[in-house]
Amino acid sequence: MADDPQTLHDRVCRHAAQTAMLESIESVLGWDERTMMPTAGAEYRAEQTTLLAGMIHGRWTDPAFGRWLAELSDSPLAEPPHGDTAVTIRRLKRLHDRKVRLPTALVEELARTAVLGQQSWEDARRRDDFASFRPLLEKTVQLKRQEAEALGYPQCPYDALLDDYEPDELTANVAAVLAGLRERLVPLVAEVSQSGRRPDVAILTRSYPVDVQEAFGREVGAKIGFDFDRGRLDVTAHPFCDSLGPHDCRITTRYDEDYFSGAFFGILHEAGHGIYDQGLPGGHYRLPLGEAVSLGIHESQSRLWENFVGRSRSFWEHFYPRARRQFPQALGDVSPEAFYFAVNEVRPSLIRVEADEATYNLHILVRFELEQALLDGDLPVADLPGAWNEKYRQYLGIEPPDDAQGVLQDVHWSAGLIGYFPTYTLGNLYAAQLFAQADADLGGLAAQFAGGQFRPLRDWLREKIHRQGQRYSAAELIERITGRPLSPMPLVEHLRAKLGPLYGIS
Ligand code: ZN
Repeated sequence: MADDPQTLHDRVCRHAAQTAMLESIESVLGWDERTMMPTAGAEYRAEQTTLLAGMIHGRWTDPAFGRWLAELSDSPLAEPPHGDTAVTIRRLKRLHDRKVRLPTALVEELARTAVLGQQSWEDARRRDDFASFRPLLEKTVQLKRQEAEALGYPQCPYDALLDDYEPDELTANVAAVLAGLRERLVPLVAEVSQSGRRPDVAILTRSYPVDVQEAFGREVGAKIGFDFDRGRLDVTAHPFCDSLGPHDCRITTRYDEDYFSGAFFGILHEAGHGIYDQGLPGGHYRLPLGEAVSLGIHESQSRLWENFVGRSRSFWEHFYPRARRQFPQALGDVSPEAFYFAVNEVRPSLIRVEADEATYNLHILVRFELEQALLDGDLPVADLPGAWNEKYRQYLGIEPPDDAQGVLQDVHWSAGLIGYFPTYTLGNLYAAQLFAQADADLGGLAAQFAGGQFRPLRDWLREKIHRQGQRYSAAELIERITGRPLSPMPLVEHLRAKLGPLYGIS
């Protein structure tokens, strides 16, 4: 006799919860590797994570798990579509189906090529020698095409890869929104570049004692709502945020004695990710009802606190007097206005990770357009450096002097991460649209920030986004909260409103 749906559902949840626990153990190992582990520990750590990864893969692809989910998909528990059981069944089935569609040989080949690709890329970047990296990038692109074919897609192969990061999103939709952004952002950045005004950014590279930076970062992180009783801040080379348990969120940063912005805005960024993780329903930790919607939505939470809050005038109305007391030598002679302008500098530059709030999106557009062309076969890998430089000239008005500062600057493609880049700009776009809505709903956030009140915004995000887990797709969530689909306009309006007065442009 067949099991009744409720029994089956409970069994599926138990299986998934234990698999999620193995994944959280993988996260503990990963956090340790990136913050504490001595270099000599790397080899054994790699064996530990390989063993765990195999166990996790085996559990998600377990044929019995697949049968239970298939049966549940046809049961009354799969309705209504946004109900608890339906969401759990749909999202877990999607996860299982994606994983079983990929042949083991292809998964292994992708993993092997990613390791070799990153080695080759590091070497090529150091020597500024794209030609030596070219064969591995060609192989990566070819394998990613195979991956897309194995997974299947609604319209174009890129859909299949994007889906890994932005579930249920289509390339055509993203391309349309990003093209709308490009049309308006390229001229805006050009106007800024041509304006005679420049902030004095040298004030940000004065001496900022590391221990004071850390104390100030912690104070601000707590003030915006990161819960240090359920989280930690540690030091790493490449900052990240990960949750090791429902009440254990780890954020990381790196300090530079001679630069204020890196660590400070980095902490706000990672705290934004952390506040999202801390707001997810803990009882469903790493399960669909307690997991983030997409990378883009996750990034929207970090960018919102970093840029929309942390680079706002009202935020610094509250925090600047405090910053000045903390860093009297660096900021004693700096006016609030000069500081505000400096942290909002917009200047076309070559390196994505150092880019400002506005030009950052142009770096992403270049990559998004090029990686689609690579995957579709419209752009041979051999022509990539030339195409890269041409787009930098068109969008940012600058051209890389060499490939190390151009096409070779990011690790992503060498690691097989194609389809990932647009999530950064989607994050900025979601953040802008959500922030505008929160401002309307909460009746003027600027006055609240100036008064040191950040809790109303955090609680609004918690209720509207964090508590929802994966109940809605990113597109559904944005439309439900703001009443309209994702648009480039809120970000463009935010940037114009801020940069207009600073740079004397209309
Ligand atoms: Zn981020």
